[in-house]
Amino acid sequence: MSASKIDRVEARTIRVPLDKPTSFSTRQVHHRDYGIVRVTTSDGIQGIGFCYGGSDAGSLVSHAVRELFAPLVLGEDATRVEGLWDRMYSAGVLQGRAGAAMRALSILDIALWDRNARAAQMPLHRFLGGYHDTTVPAYASGGYYLDGKTPDKLGEELAGYVAQGFKAVKMKVGRLGLAEEEARIRAAREAIGPDVELMLDANNAWRDLPTALRFMERYAPYNPYWIEEPFPVDDIDNHARLAQRTPIPVATGEIETGRWRFKELLDKEAAAILQTDAAVCGGISEYRRIGATAASYGVNLCPHWFHDLHIHLVGSAPNGQLVEYFPDDQVLNFRRLVDTQLEVRDGELVLPTTPGLGFAFDEAALDAYALDPWS
Ligand SMILES: [Mg+2]
Repeated sequence: MSASKIDRVEARTIRVPLDKPTSFSTRQVHHRDYGIVRVTTSDGIQGIGFCYGGSDAGSLVSHAVRELFAPLVLGEDATRVEGLWDRMYSAGVLQGRAGAAMRALSILDIALWDRNARAAQMPLHRFLGGYHDTTVPAYASGGYYLDGKTPDKLGEELAGYVAQGFKAVKMKVGRLGLAEEEARIRAAREAIGPDVELMLDANNAWRDLPTALRFMERYAPYNPYWIEEPFPVDDIDNHARLAQRTPIPVATGEIETGRWRFKELLDKEAAAILQTDAAVCGGISEYRRIGATAASYGVNLCPHWFHDLHIHLVGSAPNGQLVEYFPDDQVLNFRRLVDTQLEVRDGELVLPTTPGLGFAFDEAALDAYALDPWS
């Protein structure tokens, strides 16, 4: 019997409340649901996977793991990752080539890569080929809308990240009117100084090009590094039109899935930076295909969210540019569910040296927040 035979696949839904209701351009979040998975092979080695399941109905992901994909991989060899990916993808096309079903496929694929790296006794970034040596460039992600958060308080928050050594920071935009938005970005730029890169995340704020251009005219004098997700995810053409009309690079892709959609973004020049999320797009396997395609277009990846997953992917590819790092557990409250936090050194993230992802779930924390048992 093969040591790498998959004996057990278990999923769970975890709901972690936010300490304060937190707002984006078009939505407010009170808690976050995570779909998590654990794969055990016959040698006793485990791999884990996890994704954001949305601010409600995260159990759709764990349901898809249990009902749709687990039966396809049980009894199979965990090292045959491409073969299992293909089998899961083919089986899932009716239930959804994007969204919860694709996230379920993604987290199983992540768990297989994690398990195999642990079996090889290698950190995942080295198992994937290794590019960076000890640290990986990152930016500090924050600047959310909270009740009572003035432009000055926003500036203080971002300046705090710069004081920790970060050379790039991100803030949310697109929720308020022109004058209020300009006051926020002005305060941010004044607080961080001229030499720190400032990213803007609109979270699908605008529906039409003229509105987006009006905001971009106000933002441009503050020299933003990119404008992120200006339009609804599926409106690729408007991303391309905006990219033609503003000198500010357009970044997108955090909710996008599959190599073919990313190729469309690249072909239409709708994104100068891809924000592919391995827990969304089809796992580490699909992320690497997308990354290789982007490399042939001369485009870099700055993956969205989950810094402790994406450090391994940015750390193992020449066109991995920046990890999105969340400095506390207020926004990425997944941080409360794991037993090890990444180390920050001079504004860069230190690559893990322990096998696999380099951390495990904190079982007590899972029990405290879980909506269902492991099954
Ligand atoms: Mg974003």
